[in-house]
Amino acid sequence: MKKLKYLVIHCTDTPEGREVSKKDIERWHLSPKPKGRGWKRLGYSDMIHIDGSIENLTPYDNDDYVQDSEKTWGATGVNAVSRHIVVVGGRTKDNRHIQFNFMEALQVHTLIQKCKEEIALHPDLLIAGHYHFSEYKTCPNFDVEALLLANGISEKNIYTNLKPTPFETINLDK
Ligand SMILES: [Zn+2]
Repeated sequence: MKKLKYLVIHCTDTPEGREVSKKDIERWHLSPKPKGRGWKRLGYSDMIHIDGSIENLTPYDNDDYVQDSEKTWGATGVNAVSRHIVVVGGRTKDNRHIQFNFMEALQVHTLIQKCKEEIALHPDLLIAGHYHFSEYKTCPNFDVEALLLANGISEKNIYTNLKPTPFETINLDK
């Protein structure tokens, strides 16, 4: 059993305005291939809905350890030391393009509150985006470092291994 190190932020990669339920996540992750990914665990611990409400998907306690029952499979390689949180959205309404900076104000508010609560419980926690751990991914489709810094999260709790981040090299007008 390892110590919790990362809180990793994701998006559901679904069209603007479309809600996602816990049942949807279960179908995507737990259903056998090719319908789903055929995983034994969900990819996420919590989900932030369009209205800013937060829903627990995989229960966990507030200690510093990632117990087996608390494990989620959001990013290969770091799951044993991570908790994953997903924000609903990330694609344009027509589902044809990535939508950068898609979050509604209420979603931003909830995400920042959640990060602050988790840092209060785990002072050494590092908050990351899925893109930090997976080359070629833009998930959660916003610049995690910039958003956290702009909302008063201390630099010491912000993970960064990418200089520049994908968001400094992507042309956001495309
Ligand atoms: Zn992701």
